[in-house]
Amino acid sequence: MHTKTPFKPKVNLISLGCSKNTVDSEKILGQLNYHGVSATYQGQEDDYNTVIINTCGFIENAKQESIDAILAYADAKNKGEIEKLYVAGCLSERYRHELEAEIKEVDAFFGTYDLPLLLEKFNIDYREELIGERTLSTDTHYSYLKISDGCNRKCTFCSIPKFKGLHKSRTIESLVEEATFLAKKGTKELMLIAQELTYYGLDIYKKRALKELIDKLSEIEEIKWIRLHYAYPAQFPESLIEIIRDNPKVCKYLDIPLQHASDKVLKDMKRNIDQKTTRNLIAKLREEIPNIAIRTTMLTGFPTETGDDFQDLISFVEDMKFDRLGVFAYSHEDGTEAFKYEDIWSQDEKNRRVNELMEVQGRISYTLNQEKIGKTFKVLIDRIEGKEFVGRTEFDSPEVDNEVRFTSEKALKPGDFCHVEILDAFEFDLIGREI
Ligand code: SF4
Repeated sequence: MHTKTPFKPKVNLISLGCSKNTVDSEKILGQLNYHGVSATYQGQEDDYNTVIINTCGFIENAKQESIDAILAYADAKNKGEIEKLYVAGCLSERYRHELEAEIKEVDAFFGTYDLPLLLEKFNIDYREELIGERTLSTDTHYSYLKISDGCNRKCTFCSIPKFKGLHKSRTIESLVEEATFLAKKGTKELMLIAQELTYYGLDIYKKRALKELIDKLSEIEEIKWIRLHYAYPAQFPESLIEIIRDNPKVCKYLDIPLQHASDKVLKDMKRNIDQKTTRNLIAKLREEIPNIAIRTTMLTGFPTETGDDFQDLISFVEDMKFDRLGVFAYSHEDGTEAFKYEDIWSQDEKNRRVNELMEVQGRISYTLNQEKIGKTFKVLIDRIEGKEFVGRTEFDSPEVDNEVRFTSEKALKPGDFCHVEILDAFEFDLIGREI
């Protein structure tokens, strides 16, 4: 008599999209590993039989990348190279019915809040108390802490509230527990991320609670740096300025996406702020928090952005001299309010505007970096490349900002802090030596 060997899943997880998705992927893997299911990230092991793709569904490029990944593994399944294929994340949340109808090879699709259902496929009962268990995909000395999800704002270009829903803060207790777990794993730098972190607490505590949260997180001995990503500029809370200025563990750094500078475009984007108020806010941040590094993002090619509006944006960026800038081309997304407009700018024109703005920023960044020559900065080492160490100051976030490349005679390792004197500077890199 033949008995069938029970299927033993060996999972390869493909994580696409932003840092918030990275955290979700780390939780999926953390729960699988905790329950004894062998599961790793893409490229770590070859002999997997099951694939989970955690997709991104935010803008066109990201959606295409996710669809390409699903089709590639659907093909692998057809060839018998894998047995099970699961798709989770934002694309799946947003277009589940269309995807189910079109890609039959996928065994099941899950939304962004469906971790328990995904775990059921592995005969695992989701356990809330394991929420902090994460198999980190980053180097362990820095990690992302997702303090909330969803968004209550109504930016007309943005599809996130449609598929993530309204803002949902996590409790301070659960976040402190998760951060303590991360600290035990080696985290020294904690990146607080949310769609909109100024809103933290208003839903569950009926008041802004970012200060209480950060005060508690600061008590974790091993955490040395806390970095804040994604603050909405309108009705910017005074308390956030105090947090950055007064808490020594909070990096003098703020990621504050502004999206545009033309009053007309800001109004059409429903950003609830105009250029004058934005200028005042940036001036106040710089006045109250000396040396703060401000990172922002801009969106070019919005349907109502004329050539004059774009020039207004360029002049604004030239004036403001942001320390860091990311620029994205507008993506015409169904389900958003801006979808009512005609998407009049070609992709080439949108990209041309992105490049023009980035050239302006390149010059600004070069000048700002030149001013750092001869100064000494505290640096957290991210990696070693040959004989060179690569790290960051508190003014730079991993993967998106400047790096410091330097030499040292000491046996330093990733996760160590040291002091580096800057000897030379380029557009996006600083060169130095450890002292
Ligand atoms: S604040 Fe950010 S996440 Fe929220 S709607 Fe606006 S762009 Fe989207």
